[in-house]
Amino acid sequence: MDAKRLEHFRQRLLAELRRHTENAQHNQADALEIAMADGVKDAADLSFQDVEQEIEYRLSERESSFVSEIKEALRRIEEGRYGICENCGKPISERRLEAMPTARYDADCQALIEAQRGPEETPTL
Ligand SMILES: [Zn+2]
Repeated sequence: MDAKRLEHFRQRLLAELRRHTENAQHNQADALEIAMADGVKDAADLSFQDVEQEIEYRLSERESSFVSEIKEALRRIEEGRYGICENCGKPISERRLEAMPTARYDADCQALIEAQRGPEETPTL
């Protein structure tokens, strides 16, 4: 993949990361409010651990898996491994990457892996 295409995907991933990080921050503010409304009189009474636990609980599994998928994809760009199937080493089609910029496998390997593991929830951007 040439540098221009790579940059295109990098920008898309960064935009997604920003979007999801904003969601996470929003959840964090909600979590604090809920923890405070939850019988605790004021924020000073909340231990840091309470808040952390609440945030963890509120931050949906789906949301945090989105974020880690995106970070992984950005790391692959940095390391020059982006767009290469992690299973067979063949290039992943750009059409597939357009549809799913976080794709780790080409369509063949993805199907193979899903058949072995059972369907897995794949984040779609
Ligand atoms: Zn493959």
